[in-house]
Amino acid sequence: MRSYPAILSSLFHHRIFSRFRRTISLQSPAAVTTPMAATTEDSLRRALADKQSTIDASGTAIRQLKTSGASKAEIDEAVKALNALKLEKTSIENQLKASISGDANGSAISRDAFRQAVVNTLERRLFFIPAFKIYRGVAGLYDYGPPGCAVKSNVLAFWRQHFVLEEDMLEVDCPCVTPEVVLKASGHVDKFTDLMVKDEKTGNCYRADHLLKDYCKDKLENDLALSADKAAELKHVLAVLDDLSGEQLGAKIKEYGIVAPDTKNPLSDPYPFNLMFQTQIGPSGASTGYMRPETAQGIFVNFKDLYYYNGNKLPFAAAQIGQAFRNEISPRQGLLRVREFTLAEIEHFVDPDDKSHPKYSEVSNLEFLMFPRDEQMSGQSAKRLCLGEAVSKGVVNNQTLAYFIGRVYLFLTRLGIDQERLRFRQHLPNEMAHYAADCWDAEIESSYGWIECVGIADRSAYDLRAHTDKSGVALVAQEKFAEPKEVEKLVITPVKKELGLAFKGNQKMVVEALEAMNEKEALDMKAALETKGEVEFEVCTLEKTVTIKKSMVSISKEKKKEHQRVFTPSVIEPSFGIGRIIYCLYEHSFYMRPSKAGDEQLNVFRFPPLVAPIKCTVFPLVQNQQYEEVAKQISRSLTAAGISNKKDITGTSIGKRYARTDELGVPFAVTVDSTSSVTIRERDSKDQIRVNVDEVAAVIKDVSEGRCTWADILQKYPAHTSASADE
Ligand code: AMP
Repeated sequence: MRSYPAILSSLFHHRIFSRFRRTISLQSPAAVTTPMAATTEDSLRRALADKQSTIDASGTAIRQLKTSGASKAEIDEAVKALNALKLEKTSIENQLKASISGDANGSAISRDAFRQAVVNTLERRLFFIPAFKIYRGVAGLYDYGPPGCAVKSNVLAFWRQHFVLEEDMLEVDCPCVTPEVVLKASGHVDKFTDLMVKDEKTGNCYRADHLLKDYCKDKLENDLALSADKAAELKHVLAVLDDLSGEQLGAKIKEYGIVAPDTKNPLSDPYPFNLMFQTQIGPSGASTGYMRPETAQGIFVNFKDLYYYNGNKLPFAAAQIGQAFRNEISPRQGLLRVREFTLAEIEHFVDPDDKSHPKYSEVSNLEFLMFPRDEQMSGQSAKRLCLGEAVSKGVVNNQTLAYFIGRVYLFLTRLGIDQERLRFRQHLPNEMAHYAADCWDAEIESSYGWIECVGIADRSAYDLRAHTDKSGVALVAQEKFAEPKEVEKLVITPVKKELGLAFKGNQKMVVEALEAMNEKEALDMKAALETKGEVEFEVCTLEKTVTIKKSMVSISKEKKKEHQRVFTPSVIEPSFGIGRIIYCLYEHSFYMRPSKAGDEQLNVFRFPPLVAPIKCTVFPLVQNQQYEEVAKQISRSLTAAGISNKKDITGTSIGKRYARTDELGVPFAVTVDSTSSVTIRERDSKDQIRVNVDEVAAVIKDVSEGRCTWADILQKYPAHTSASADE
């Protein structure tokens, strides 16, 4: 029986599953023009090189003037000209620096400072904590503290609402510990690798592509003397970085003289490192397992039961939220690249001959930033496109894929992701798995650049076929015909008596493997049996090759009446990195504003109520038993209405208490300044209204759950102005 991973292994290299990329030529920068190849930058680099040669020539001329005994006036004139040239050079250098930092979308310094401000706030307010911190932590492992947990649980609740409930998906929850056979079938055991290099003296490990990327970026950003040609070469390397084979990466590392960043020691050649955490299932050590690197396989292996549960009908989708584990080589980028993270994955199973979607019209008018492959290849940037037009022009492969792209756009923007910093980038042909019909990544721009947060791929029938092959269980769907159809069919009839005599206890597996052959394999076998009388045949479930003789199987083509079509469904897979989405949301929501006195910058997270960790805080204006009683009563009524809230009865100034809640992104604050009515303040506008105590919970619930907006509330309730409540 044919095994997909074995057949395809030569095509794969690092991190295959989302990528399955083919190796690309390093010799032809023209083949992939990067959007970064800005002509201004090129012309500035050329102008700088020209200016430098003019300066060198004029320096030589001055030296000659001096040795030939030229007059002082003549020499002074030449020096004056040289100084003017140097000034011109400085001006070009400054333009070049501006152009480079413009390419990088803002200067590196301000991006770093912004990130630092966000991360400091997140850590100080316990949105996240480096895990095992008192033992100096472990790279790539983080805890979520109380507000972080609340944000995550809100994001997941909305995910369930937006996808599982609204699309009627079948949710499953499968184990993280996964037996080897499952991940062997999926190809992860053999191919889920990144290329690694080691410091030859200390043994420290680095991701080979990261070192090459750092080198190229550093040169491009900081080496102003870099020639335009060299800059184009480095940009090309950056553009094709993900596609380089081990040999190509190794050759570039050598060519550029890249050494270990910490020690400057030489580096080994790149070699593949499997990213899965291996473990043993049970005490004997006989059964190898892995911590799952994705949740999808749990859904694929349950396909048969889920299909039955769904009344044997397609299309349907299954969904799973759970932890995934990847032993990243040298995790950097904080919360964006970690070793354990939450994935939320959907596997939408669909007839490969009909990828229309009944709710497609609900998203087809959406317009947002899309970055089709043609635009990427021709060096353009992402542009606003209408999703429906992208489908009708064939830019997006099919309606179902487009439907999910649209739903992902709505999901992310409703969470609070800035639509101007969200784009859908199509995979380039070399990035895509050979079997994939089309793939788009939802990329969100953060201080780290554009980050893939959701992958949306039409993976065709690959995964179900791989598990059918390995398990021997047919993961297929049927379409019943209204009228029987006459078709020419391949009929494979294993001769069980002969096979039993030859293979004894293994007979069943050989029979199943013979029956599972596709048409081409079966016809090849028939031809071989007719000419040679026997043929070698690989049975994956036995993990060996057996000899099949002519007497053991009959293969023929017959006309048959068929009542149904049996086929392997295609799968469309949106895969959400929840931690990445949350981190980008933090960056998109963060801003600073001056305190009332103007002496301090205060941090604010402008989370929409949907994701805010706490929806409302309740403060008595002054420490007084009556007000505290009212605050408790309001808090109890909010809790009863299912609205997360927090009382702050400390005697600190109201301004400080507002600042504390703004920094947690709490959208509403109730200040108790009387026993009958109170003020409600909105975080970003700082507008306040007066509301009766017994109405507070209903108002906050409506505005938090999106039944009305703050603008609606402002219309309905009297505004409140008071220096003490404002500050
Ligand atoms: P992949 O299967 O590699 O396409 O990953 C699916 C999603 O998981 C990506 O779109 C990312 O959002 C997320 N992801 C992948 N690797 C990591 C990681 N090391 N840390 C956090 N999120 C990750």
